[in-house]
Amino acid sequence: MTKKTIQLGNGEILTYQLERRARRTVGLKITDDGLVVHAPKYLLEFQLKNLILKKSDWISNKLATRKLNQKPPITWQDGETIPLLGLDMTLYIVSDSKKQPPQFNHDSLTIVLPQPEDEEVVKKTVIQWYKKQALTDFGRRIALFAAKLGVTTPPFKLSNARSRWGSCTSQGDIRLNWRLIQAPPSIINYVVCHELAHLKEMNHSAQYWAIVEGIYPHYKAAEKELKQLSAVLHRM
Ligand SMILES: [Zn+2]
Repeated sequence: MTKKTIQLGNGEILTYQLERRARRTVGLKITDDGLVVHAPKYLLEFQLKNLILKKSDWISNKLATRKLNQKPPITWQDGETIPLLGLDMTLYIVSDSKKQPPQFNHDSLTIVLPQPEDEEVVKKTVIQWYKKQALTDFGRRIALFAAKLGVTTPPFKLSNARSRWGSCTSQGDIRLNWRLIQAPPSIINYVVCHELAHLKEMNHSAQYWAIVEGIYPHYKAAEKELKQLSAVLHRM
């Protein structure tokens, strides 16, 4: 293997590992060490670089996702960074004999507890606060998009599912995973629209997606982004 560098379409300089092999096509692989390229022995360097450049977007996306997914779990300690609506917020933990309601201030969340070193208590307090925000925020979005779709605002509850971001029952009840409150608003809107559209079509047919597109035109990009964010949202 030899180390090589290339300038991608976005100007970013990328280092990759090149391995020449007895093969006919070029293979690109993202590993823990970054991009690994397997190339035929006869392929000229400039041809190879052109091929990699064509895959610039794919490479950048894969690398970004991998980086996100490598984020360590949240430590429930003073100074930790936690996301809310796609933005980073600093968690402050203050010790006081009496527990007080969390205070949110632009880019920080301060919680006041008698036992600030107890990470389980900190975690529980923060998650409770997140759920409260999710309830208000999602409720508002559901009402907004239900109006846009021309349906009555359905009843909704928060869910704690491990693998699903939202669901819609045949009775027309909507569930949304509270963890979504960490995601950018565009992603929350997408999940809301996805579930609301099921009130009209209880499947994922072409007709269904046309309804989604009617209230959320860029749903494909949002769905992709949500997949990439999945691991990060489950840190909490
Ligand atoms: Zn669905």
